[in-house]
Amino acid sequence: MGDSQRSGFDVAVVGAGIVGLAHALVAARAGKRVVVIDRDPRANGASIRNFGFITVTGQERGESWALARRTRDVWAAIAPEAGIAVEQRGLIVTLRHAEAIAVAEAFLATEMGEGCEWLGAAEFRARHGEIAAPGALGALISPHELRVESRTALPKLAAWLKDAHGVAFMFETAVHAVAPPRIETSRGPVQAETAIVCPGDDFASLFADRIAVYRPRRCRLSMLRLASPGFRLPAPVMSDLSLVRYAGYAALPQAQALRTRLAADQPAHLANGVHLIAVQSADGSLVVGDSHHYDDLPPPFAPAEAEACILDEFQRATGIAPPPVQERWVGTYAVADGRSYFIDAPSDAVRLVMVTSGTGASTGFGIAERTIADLFGLETKAAP
Ligand SMILES: Cc1cc2nc3c(=O)[nH]c(=O)nc-3n(C[C@H](O)[C@H](O)[C@H](O)COP(=O)(O)OP(=O)(O)OC[C@H]3O[C@@H](n4cnc5c(N)ncnc54)[C@H](O)[C@@H]3O)c2cc1C
Repeated sequence: MGDSQRSGFDVAVVGAGIVGLAHALVAARAGKRVVVIDRDPRANGASIRNFGFITVTGQERGESWALARRTRDVWAAIAPEAGIAVEQRGLIVTLRHAEAIAVAEAFLATEMGEGCEWLGAAEFRARHGEIAAPGALGALISPHELRVESRTALPKLAAWLKDAHGVAFMFETAVHAVAPPRIETSRGPVQAETAIVCPGDDFASLFADRIAVYRPRRCRLSMLRLASPGFRLPAPVMSDLSLVRYAGYAALPQAQALRTRLAADQPAHLANGVHLIAVQSADGSLVVGDSHHYDDLPPPFAPAEAEACILDEFQRATGIAPPPVQERWVGTYAVADGRSYFIDAPSDAVRLVMVTSGTGASTGFGIAERTIADLFGLETKAAP
């Protein structure tokens, strides 16, 4: 990009992860000229290491749940335009503890249960016998979710933003300072009237003092890709452990008894923050996880015990012996006590956006609509 092409932007977005790309889309749709700047040659952070699971059911009650429904609608609308395949839809939470059934029943009685259903043991086995473990007592079924293959979806989303929305991209470009209309980068200044900083879990490069106010830390997750089990999963699968981890269930009073039971039955799983998400890719392979270890800087040394717990939970929940491991990786995301995201305003022309709950693929578009509305004084909802 030459000097003359580095000026004339309305919005500079720092970060080409899903949160940055979501902001680029909403800003472009609002008629803004947008440049996205990232230090890496392509997205390589949490946004391509995740499950690509756009989750509604289980999100924290209230704002997060609403943001997830909106974000799911945007993904559903743009995926075909951007050439992104929706690999799976919906969710099956297979349950084997009576205490977990009580949580599922309580969940279904809330507004978040809309469209979801409970399948008893016999019906679950009749409908989805291939993933019903011998001890399964039933399953909570949700129709709301989508699943994309993030490692290919992110580059496709960026390419579509460039081709269909005229968004400019500067990769391999680190941003050192943000003071619109001047953005200082490792390739020289960029001119933009406003800036939206979406740095993922980089707490140090930009606005470090403002980020520190939110007291963020990081969470490290272990992930696995398993060979195809030889059949298609009917939907992404979760299990009992998920009901004490995902806030939409875990905040219900009934979750306490389940927590006590799981602490007695599966202490190593809880100690490693393990619960089960198993999703399937086009080639039949499974992305399975995950664990949660919290630190200001989680070391890259993931304990083997966490991986063993993930595979153990996969077998307990589905009755399927885990197929061979094809890939292993870790990812990190930002966390902050008491908030799932924040939109900070270092100045009138700058917004700093961080998802602090590991839900950026599920809430990013909804959050972006709020940021753009706030920054430009626009109505919140854009067309899907
Ligand atoms: C293993 C794992 C599984 C997950 N599963 C799910 C899931 O299934 N569903 C879900 O909704 N969420 C999931 N999450 C959470 C989700 O992936 C994150 O919330 C989301 O990806 C955060 O997106 P982001 O754009 O903020 O961050 P990132 O993807 O980390 O992107 C930030 C970008 O900013 C760039 N950057 C930062 N500072 C600068 C600078 N100064 N100059 C230039 N570039 C800069 C970085 O290079 C990076 O590319 C998961 C996360 C992990 C790690």
